[in-house]
Amino acid sequence: MDRRTFLKSATLPCIVAGAAESDAQFIVEARFYDKLPYKKIKCKLCPRECVIDDRERGYCGVRENRGGVYYSLVHSRVCSAHIDPIEKKPFFHFMPGSLAFSLATAGCNVNCKMCQNWEISQSRPEQVRNTYAPPKMVAQAARQNSCPVIAYTYSEPVVFYEYVMDTADAGHAAGVKSVVVTGGYIQEEPLKQMSRKVDAIKVDLKAYSEKFYQEVVNGELKPVLNALVTLRKQGVWNEIVYLVIPTLNDSDAEFKGLARWVKSELGLDVPLHFSRFHPEYLLKNLPPTPVPTLERAKAICDAEGLHYVYIGNVPGHPAESTYCPKCRRAVVERAGFTVLATRLNKGKCQFCQQTIPGVWEGAVKG
Ligand code: SF4
Repeated sequence: MDRRTFLKSATLPCIVAGAAESDAQFIVEARFYDKLPYKKIKCKLCPRECVIDDRERGYCGVRENRGGVYYSLVHSRVCSAHIDPIEKKPFFHFMPGSLAFSLATAGCNVNCKMCQNWEISQSRPEQVRNTYAPPKMVAQAARQNSCPVIAYTYSEPVVFYEYVMDTADAGHAAGVKSVVVTGGYIQEEPLKQMSRKVDAIKVDLKAYSEKFYQEVVNGELKPVLNALVTLRKQGVWNEIVYLVIPTLNDSDAEFKGLARWVKSELGLDVPLHFSRFHPEYLLKNLPPTPVPTLERAKAICDAEGLHYVYIGNVPGHPAESTYCPKCRRAVVERAGFTVLATRLNKGKCQFCQQTIPGVWEGAVKG
């Protein structure tokens, strides 16, 4: 959905855009920071722990120190909104076939060279066109557009944390669930609070090597692995996506290391999506991922015993569907982002009664 439709559907009272906009309606005090001497602050939201002088912003560019008080500048400041199938996020074990009212603000706490949404993720809020969309309005827009889910996505929801938390509340009050699509670069306590607030979290695990995180992401792997373990302990529904990039994160050793780590730390049931890379942003020099590479990644993880390993961005591939790990029959059949059939009965395989983990309410029936 484009911005105009969003406004129409939500009957927004206020439209603001451009560098001249006042930010008064968008600022709320940030959560998770320490006050330091001389009006400095230390942000404790993500592992960067930016120390910020008065009138300065953190690395993400959307949180600002004003007189020793730290503020988010992007509460209700939406720069992108669309209606997507939830399979596009992707979530494959969460309300398959549902529409997700999907939104983003500017900003991100990393800078991935392969970012598909760099125009917004690497911008400050003044550099993009924004729409004022307070939480209740988003919940209303989701309902009006028959979306049972709000998705916080496209850029990095960690940096618009306060907005996610308030919108999830508004959504729940209106009977709409919330899902977060994140790089998982966040500290433990904010993640725990978020995982108690929202209904599912998908983590983009960008590689299984610190080298890649340093050179391609400008971040660190270890905090992301810690975040996945925290999510597992918290019990919120979680899926993992791994974008396979030719020559950078596609070795057998890395796939095997990943599979063994997932098996030992998260268990066999977490869905793991190997997604096809297309040349973007600062990695236009690399080719799209060959499909056999994705199949090799899946085969390695299957051999380690992981139950739900998918191949993404290859429409029509059989590994888009969900198979029962016991009887091997297709229990959710997909083609691209379309759910063709579900063969589940109260979360169990229709054929052999094996429990298939996930949140299956509202699933398209077969
Ligand atoms: S959320 Fe932003 S300001 Fe806070 S530590 Fe991370 S990058 Fe820095």
